[in-house]
Amino acid sequence: MINYLYQEQNWQTQLSDLITDPLELLEILKLAPDQLLSGAILASEQFKLRVPRAFANKIEKSNIFDPLLLQVLPHHLELEDHADFVTDPLGEEQANQQPGVLHKYKSRFLLTLTGACAVHCRYCFRRHFPYQENLPKNDDWINIKNYIETQSNINEVILSGGDPLTLSNRKLKLWIDRLETVNQLKYLRVHSRVPIVIPNRIDDELISIFKNSRLRIILVVHSNHANELDDFTCAKINSLVKENITVLNQAVLLKGVNDSVQALCNLSYRLFDAGIMPYYLHVLDKVKGAHHFDLNPKVIDQIYKDVLANLPGYLVPKLVREIAGEQNKTPLFGVTTY
Ligand SMILES: *Cc1c(COP(=O)(O)O)cnc(C)c1O
Ligand code: SF4
Repeated sequence: MINYLYQEQNWQTQLSDLITDPLELLEILKLAPDQLLSGAILASEQFKLRVPRAFANKIEKSNIFDPLLLQVLPHHLELEDHADFVTDPLGEEQANQQPGVLHKYKSRFLLTLTGACAVHCRYCFRRHFPYQENLPKNDDWINIKNYIETQSNINEVILSGGDPLTLSNRKLKLWIDRLETVNQLKYLRVHSRVPIVIPNRIDDELISIFKNSRLRIILVVHSNHANELDDFTCAKINSLVKENITVLNQAVLLKGVNDSVQALCNLSYRLFDAGIMPYYLHVLDKVKGAHHFDLNPKVIDQIYKDVLANLPGYLVPKLVREIAGEQNKTPLFGVTTY
């Protein structure tokens, strides 16, 4: 059901009025409070529930197994310990060169300007990462610039997070202006889930900032299921595509959410219809609290084989895992067969 309110209300209001109470979310979705075991409430104290109302609006009512709901609803199984599921699966705490900068890959580096997200995804590998202690302050810019200039291979900056599109347009513009002064930079990538969960974030000001930058902008959105991409969301994102912004999607393969050939094919087609190219399909990072989303490698292999058999090549996302210390994301399919 389309709810007109979320198409009209500005994104700042939506971002300041998130659902944070699990019981309120259940009530909105016409689910009984006893759907949540006490462990789930405890889990939501460790990693807060955070759901934009525009996203809740895309969740099917009275369906505890809705694939969008499963991504955001705290679960008692998050409290279970599993030996190989740890708090920092990617070893990012080590790679931190200086505040806000994470440089692991040759030509590009992550710049984290905020630790905040519009939505809290239960499977997120950052659920334990201490961003707040590691954000650049205004006068860190000069050090960041100096750092880039010592690394002649860098031509791309990736704004990551947290979620960079939770920042105001003014702050985004400030940093983009700064980055534009570094001659060797050609590309600016923005990784964000906000366009999916609060589509109105793509406002005229943002479009104009992207359109007028000297840097070539690549927006990588994060959608895991076709139901996240209703007509309104697609139209908003497509307004960037129309301005020649490259828009890609990365997804995470999640048990119960999108672990079927049908779900993944629907997602790719839906993305493509909106002008978004499927980019990555990540297997789950083994982060503490996310074990219940994990899939057996054999199952993953079979699903991906079926995806390859059913989609045109250009709609098949690359199946990858991020392995701590590797120079790039590691492709997972067929790598041992030649
Ligand atoms: C994923 C990632 C990148 C970007 O990798 P691409 O393969 O270019 O999308 C860069 N730095 C880090 C630390 C990453 O995790
Ligand atoms: S960083 Fe991305 S995946 Fe993690 S909680 Fe934020 S929006 Fe979700």
